[in-house]
Amino acid sequence: TIGMLALDANGDIAGACSTSGLSYKMKGRVGDSPIIGSGLFIDNEIGGAVATGMGEEIIKTVGSFLIVELMRNGMSPQEACEEAVRRVVAKNKNYKDFQVAYIAINKAGSTGSYCIHEGFTMMKYQNGINEAVKSDFHHS
Ligand code: ASP
Repeated sequence: TIGMLALDANGDIAGACSTSGLSYKMKGRVGDSPIIGSGLFIDNEIGGAVATGMGEEIIKTVGSFLIVELMRNGMSPQEACEEAVRRVVAKNKNYKDFQVAYIAINKAGSTGSYCIHEGFTMMKYQNGINEAVKSDFHHS
């Protein structure tokens, strides 16, 4: 999945995602990306979030919506991404077998990213600077 979040000069937030789904997926499988709230969610008053990784686990926790709601309740984008990953981990004994990663942005332009396993990188362009941000991760 490729997920994108953007905050423009007027403070408006947009997001998009594009996915081919999982390798060897069952015919007819629908992952998280096409499901608003799971793979992607934006509330232009609060912020946005987008997911990649094991879609079934993202759907079960409605992860992107969860992150935006956590930000609405005061968490930073980073804290909200971490909490959303913790929920996936808490519901799964097998979390070591799959990846879930989120990125998020809020109205102020703060960003966050977090994943289960090391190896997820967020590309960030802000104030003329392009950088690759290695995501913190849960599993050590
Ligand atoms: N999230 C996608 C899915 O489960 C897979 C991916 O991130 O590549 O369909």
